[in-house]
Amino acid sequence: MAGAAQEEDKKLFDSGAASTLVGELRDAFASGATRGYRWRESQLRGLLKMTDDHEQDIVAALRSDLGKPEPESVLYEVAMVRNACKLALKELQHWMMPEKVKTSLTTFPSSAEIVSEPLGVVLIISAWNYPYLLSLDPVVGAIAAGNAVVLKPSELAPATSALIAKLVGEYMDSSSIRVVEGAVAEATALLEQKWDKIFYTGNGRVGRIVMAAAAKHLTPVVLELGGKSPVVVDSGVNLQIASRRIIVGKWGCNNGQACVSPDYIITTRDLAPKLVDALKNELEMFYGKNPLESKDLSRIVNSNHFNRLTKLMDEDKVSDKVVYGGERDPTKLQIAPTILLDVPRNCLIMNEEIFGPLLPILTVDKVEESFDIINSGGKPLAAYIFTNDKKLKEHFVKNVSAGGLVVNDTTVHVAVHTLPFGGVGQSGMGAYHGKFSFDAFSHKKAVVYRSFMGDAAMRYPPYTNGKLRL
Ligand code: NAD
Repeated sequence: MAGAAQEEDKKLFDSGAASTLVGELRDAFASGATRGYRWRESQLRGLLKMTDDHEQDIVAALRSDLGKPEPESVLYEVAMVRNACKLALKELQHWMMPEKVKTSLTTFPSSAEIVSEPLGVVLIISAWNYPYLLSLDPVVGAIAAGNAVVLKPSELAPATSALIAKLVGEYMDSSSIRVVEGAVAEATALLEQKWDKIFYTGNGRVGRIVMAAAAKHLTPVVLELGGKSPVVVDSGVNLQIASRRIIVGKWGCNNGQACVSPDYIITTRDLAPKLVDALKNELEMFYGKNPLESKDLSRIVNSNHFNRLTKLMDEDKVSDKVVYGGERDPTKLQIAPTILLDVPRNCLIMNEEIFGPLLPILTVDKVEESFDIINSGGKPLAAYIFTNDKKLKEHFVKNVSAGGLVVNDTTVHVAVHTLPFGGVGQSGMGAYHGKFSFDAFSHKKAVVYRSFMGDAAMRYPPYTNGKLRL
């Protein structure tokens, strides 16, 4: 039955089909089926079991879509979905409980609480780079909050998309949770419908399309976008550890195809050669002398992105700035870790999100100049600094605006479920992870309870001067 419903969704998915699908899910939501604790719990358990039972299928799909190394798939996709389910299962009863709040003298005597209610029928559109995680992590929040859900995974990771569609049909309640596979046409048909929330992960150009479509129905959105996430490296730090942590956040995250991967480095002119040497040493230790042969690096997702990336490093004023790497193999869609030193600020690579294995380094006279460079662009999804200087850390935290910051490491904030994960400005709006996921898919309903005691006459007309003076 579940499989049949998914099969039906796969055929000719146009606006009419999208409307029928949303209608079915609206009926399911209106029946109250998704609201109770038991349904939410059972769906979270289903998702957890699906992830546990099929870990190796997920790893194989990610290898097929991205050549993703197994440890990266297990750690950053499987384990993160698993942990999100486990946390939600542990905390759900607590999250669902109304939160008592203080009242004011104006309403005395009264009590008040914030009731988290499901929004209704929600749409999740996800991206290709962490296709299992980015599809199912938001689903955890949506079902924990008691919503009916439609998920559209990315067509650029077709093996993972097909696997998710098949498994969700088998492990989850298909009367309230459905997967629609497809590309722009299918996403457009879905976006024409009225949703109670749209949660989109991807680039800012499509983010604007999503927001415009949502505006027609006054639908709230979460936009998980990207940006140019900088790394500032100050003098006096342990360069070996700093380099390793930069490398693991860049090339160790899907070969730089991660939204929070370091996009560029800013360091001082004096430190730059030492930092380049440290990065080279560690890169060679990790990926060998011929990184194109390394099994520990993902490939580029497709030839469009491969060509986009080679254009960035082959631009005239940039190509002679390569100090490490630069090798590529179009037949295998592989690009080696590549470092570029002192690229001009007005080149392509410094004016779009790189989202791949190229790492330019900008140099400044004084490390403090970094902050103006960062703040002169769109607000990034993440920003990192390596420093031992307490004042510099404080200055960084106070003055650099980004979705999230990490001091003396990269990307690790993503794994801290007590922190909201999301962008600001051009890098997006709204946040999720942990309880923030539950909140992202809940309406916080304000409820005041009064009795028939203490009925103050001054509230009622006629409004006499005497009442005003009270
Ligand atoms: P993508 O190409 O997979 O697109 C994302 C989704 O948008 C897909 O499901 C796709 O079908 C849909 N889509 C594409 N064109 C559309 C259109 N015209 N109308 C409606 N839907 C459309 O992924 P991408 O955009 O290349 O992803 C990379 C970007 O996403 C980068 O900017 C990256 O930083 C960002 N990203 C952000 C996060 C985050 O959590 N903030 C995570 C991953 C990626």
